[in-house]
Amino acid sequence: MQELDVLIEVLKSKHDIDKESIVKLLTCKESKSIYAAADEVRSCVVGKEVHLRGLIEFSSYCCRTCFYCGLRSANSTLKRYRLEPKEILECASRAVAYGLKTIVLQSGEDKSYSINVLCKIVQAIKGMDVAVTLSIGELKRSEYAELKKAGADRYLLRIETSNENLYNGLHPGMSYKNRVRCLYDLKELGYETGTGCLIGIPGQTIDMLAEDLLFFKKLDADMIGMGPFIPCDGTPLEKSEGGKVDLVYRMMSLTRLFLPEVNMPVTTALGVKDYNGYKNGLMCGANVIMPNMGMSEYKKMYAIYPGKGESINNMENQIENIKKVVFELGRSIGVDYGSRRKTTK
Ligand code: SF4
Repeated sequence: MQELDVLIEVLKSKHDIDKESIVKLLTCKESKSIYAAADEVRSCVVGKEVHLRGLIEFSSYCCRTCFYCGLRSANSTLKRYRLEPKEILECASRAVAYGLKTIVLQSGEDKSYSINVLCKIVQAIKGMDVAVTLSIGELKRSEYAELKKAGADRYLLRIETSNENLYNGLHPGMSYKNRVRCLYDLKELGYETGTGCLIGIPGQTIDMLAEDLLFFKKLDADMIGMGPFIPCDGTPLEKSEGGKVDLVYRMMSLTRLFLPEVNMPVTTALGVKDYNGYKNGLMCGANVIMPNMGMSEYKKMYAIYPGKGESINNMENQIENIKKVVFELGRSIGVDYGSRRKTTK
């Protein structure tokens, strides 16, 4: 047996290898057998269901200035929007009418919504018999606790990179230590906690990506989202080179092998960079797709990076297209909340 085959077999059975071996798998020429192993583990551990999460991007205002993101507050060219609570609930009930069992509320860090208002929105959506995921950035532990008490089930907060120096350099006014504090607070408060990284961001090395995988494992993350870095106009990184999709597929596959139970979406960024992103992502360990259920007039305005929102047609077509890809792969659409299935603990 070749060394790489041995490493893949060890990962398939033990779901753990050292950093040096991860680097070998991230850099070797052979990708097909890594993808196939991830697909096999995905099938055995989380099954063939693909869970659809209805994404509502409810505000494009953000007080932060992350170097790679088009929503950064310093980007004065961006036209912004903010939905009223009533409009958020209308989007949620439309998503529920399409049969979706999770609503994801995402925004920039927009302090104009009080925790009290956000709790009321969460409570109202929970009344629709769905799971609620929040993705609204860094908060105090007490605020995460209030939202959990209001019924929120899950929280997405990508670490973007687990390298402290790189993180601090990309996020002026923010700190790696606080980001990590947020993630551990979320875990301790009982949220299903999602994180992930940006692949191909300037300054990132393969070693750092290997460390990202070790970080996800140490956190015991419940959800992992990864996408390629896409340079965006109006940001300090607008002229940089973008991330490579092959490396994203490699990282997704290794994530499934490393954390077999995790819920892992095909991210929108991947769909922008690869026309067959849904199909390819689902074959590299993914089991989640997040159709955009926000108000159509605002979808293109949530411009984290260029191209986002352009392929989104009407909601019915969007969901039908996703179902077509899912069924062509012999997979099915999840009918329950699609929470993490714990099998190894
Ligand atoms: S990545 Fe998030 S926190 Fe940073 S500027 Fe963009 S929306 Fe704001």
